[in-house]
Amino acid sequence: MLLAGKTVIITGASRGIGRAAAKECARQGARVVIGHSGSEQGTEAARSLIEEIAAFDGQAIEVGSDAADPDTGDRLVAGAVNAFGSVDVFVNNAGICPFHSFLDMPREVYLKTVNTNLNGAYFAVQAAANQMKNQGKGGAIIAVSSISALVGGGMQTHYTPTKAGLHSLMQSCAIALGPYGIRCNSVLPGTIATDINKDDLADEEKLAYMTSRTPLGRLGEPDDVAGPIVFLASDMAKYVTGASLLVDGGLFVNLQ
Ligand code: NAP
Repeated sequence: MLLAGKTVIITGASRGIGRAAAKECARQGARVVIGHSGSEQGTEAARSLIEEIAAFDGQAIEVGSDAADPDTGDRLVAGAVNAFGSVDVFVNNAGICPFHSFLDMPREVYLKTVNTNLNGAYFAVQAAANQMKNQGKGGAIIAVSSISALVGGGMQTHYTPTKAGLHSLMQSCAIALGPYGIRCNSVLPGTIATDINKDDLADEEKLAYMTSRTPLGRLGEPDDVAGPIVFLASDMAKYVTGASLLVDGGLFVNLQ
């Protein structure tokens, strides 16, 4: 029970990596706030996760609110405090990656991606940090960045800067929030099979290529990222801040 007694907010927890992380946090004893977009599909998925968590006597609530909205962080924090009395861990995970070429990138696709992945995240991290500071007992903030913070992608010119931005935000926040005992770290997943890349990986050649490039010989599953998130959220990582953890099956170091 690495997270017993802690309240954990995870954005984008209705599906994919966030869902797996929310479930593992609950298994580790945390009370969980499941953030999602507020769409009918997101709400339904979040409610089914609450049931899965309740099945092993875990506690969770859901808060639907657009990650691009600067007020979403306040809503998530208010939901956590009303239901569970505190915020101990904030995981910024919600994100989109609508693959698109650079030269004809529509402005609205660029702006939606940056607002969802980075601008909203900035204010959500700020809201969670203020709550943790006021509680006076520290906390942990984790950004789900990406291997894309370190490498480029021709169809991801709008996406990779948001992931590099989150990585950088955690580094700067580690300095800004260290005096309050609030640790800030990022995880950098490689290719994890989820809805975000379902269409891209439907191309069998691309799927085989990505698999062959990964030293561990398989794509990641959402659950592969859950453990590293729990580790960084827990007191096992009590002296870890400003760090980033690649969770990519070795993809990044495989040059040839
Ligand atoms: P996913 O399966 O598509 O899940 C995305 C999650 O984000 C869903 O819970 C979704 O909620 C939520 N979300 C999307 N737009 C939102 C919005 N406007 N407001 C609030 N919530 C919103 O994607 P995933 O692969 O798990 O990705 C999670 C994070 O991991 C992303 O930040 C992504 O960049 C990062 N990542 C993924 C990979 C990968 O290979 N999969 C690699 C590196 C990094 P709804 O259900 O309500 O839509």
